[in-house]
Amino acid sequence: MNDPRRIAIVGGGPAGALAGQLLATGGRKVVLFDEKLAWEKPCGGGLTHKALTQYPFLAEARAESKFIRHCELSTPAGRRVRFEVRYPLAIFSRLALNGLLLDRAKRSGVDVRQERVTEISGAAGDWLLTTPRGDYRTSQLIFAAGARNSFRAQFLSPISPEDLMVTAGYFIPGESSLVQIQFLKNISGYIWVFPRPDHVSAGIAAKMGETSTADLRRLLEQWLRENDFSLEGARFYSHILPAFRAKTLTAMKVCGDGWMMIGDSAGLVDPITGEGLYYALRSAELCAQALLAGDPARYAAKLEEEILSELKIAARVSQRFYTGQVFGESVLERMILLTEHSEKIRDLMSDLFAGIQDYQGLRSRLLRIVPGLMLEGLGGRLGFSREAIDNS
Ligand SMILES: Cc1cc2nc3c(=O)[nH]c(=O)nc-3n(C[C@H](O)[C@H](O)[C@H](O)COP(=O)(O)OP(=O)(O)OC[C@H]3O[C@@H](n4cnc5c(N)ncnc54)[C@H](O)[C@@H]3O)c2cc1C
Repeated sequence: MNDPRRIAIVGGGPAGALAGQLLATGGRKVVLFDEKLAWEKPCGGGLTHKALTQYPFLAEARAESKFIRHCELSTPAGRRVRFEVRYPLAIFSRLALNGLLLDRAKRSGVDVRQERVTEISGAAGDWLLTTPRGDYRTSQLIFAAGARNSFRAQFLSPISPEDLMVTAGYFIPGESSLVQIQFLKNISGYIWVFPRPDHVSAGIAAKMGETSTADLRRLLEQWLRENDFSLEGARFYSHILPAFRAKTLTAMKVCGDGWMMIGDSAGLVDPITGEGLYYALRSAELCAQALLAGDPARYAAKLEEEILSELKIAARVSQRFYTGQVFGESVLERMILLTEHSEKIRDLMSDLFAGIQDYQGLRSRLLRIVPGLMLEGLGGRLGFSREAIDNS
């Protein structure tokens, strides 16, 4: 039972469960520890079209999720735009999503244990994991313990508060078919309302240190009241969310001798949007592929090429996105105005929501769109010129 050749995974959220399933399907012996197993982790639960295409079994899980096509964006000044996205967003309760992924892991042969790992000792090739039920030896460790990964400091430095966002939210009974995003004044984050099959997940996120969790909660409650949401029967939640700075992403390690980190443990969250589910799943897949190929170091190279390069761009522009100015007006106000007036910009926003427009190609796509806006006579109305965008 206690086979030291096994791979041990600490954490059974989306990252750990998928890594376990893929490794077991590839013929490896895997033990996975999660202190709670499937649970309603504080989260919006939104999965993009890109994630659903990469993992079609999630697109097929229609009963556990709600597919949403309508979206509303609002600015701090009160400008609002509603539009239909080209590809629906699937919104899962995390209890259902984690349960689905853990079931697949179990069915693939993963030994799934509801135990909290309290200590890790030993060295590469012969780690010793301690839980309240006993000790387990293993040769390879995968950390998938989320943003609160208590072992991070043992292998790397702890996450700095400057690389975190704080969130607060409510699971509210009721129905909706509209995703709502409200940007806020002087806050690098936003309020969201994500409708799920039998409730909505509403929340607010901001950079840690920007404002207190209590103030965020008050802001959210006020917005919910003003937008006709009742908090009767609602359940409050709060959690941290990695939002790594570009220099942290550049310097960080994701694997070492006998260990690998995936998902939130490794800080793989888009620092602008807070999207982490796709990165949790994809990093799990890249990690499993590298181990099955007998080349663990390949994980770091693939992660850099595919994920870290994107997250670094997001980290560099994040502050400008939330608080910067373009053509004499805030980026956010300008973005919503353009979304309201231009079909091409709505398509672009739709592709951003779907996860199929990457940050690397965003500027060149915008530059291709601008001449068309001029022809439509929108340039003057929106107050910019081709020269201005080139210089911005
Ligand atoms: C408020 C909020 C809203 C969000 N909304 C979205 C969204 O709409 N879309 C999106 O893409 N992303 C969203 N995210 C991000 C998303 O929730 C994470 O990126 C995702 O959960 C990461 O998955 P993971 O498997 O890496 O970690 P987690 O889902 O955090 O899983 C970690 C698991 O490890 C277990 N664990 C931890 N320590 C131990 C231990 N010592 N022993 C045993 N088990 C342990 C925990 O019980 C947990 O199940 C949101 C995050 C927050 C905080």
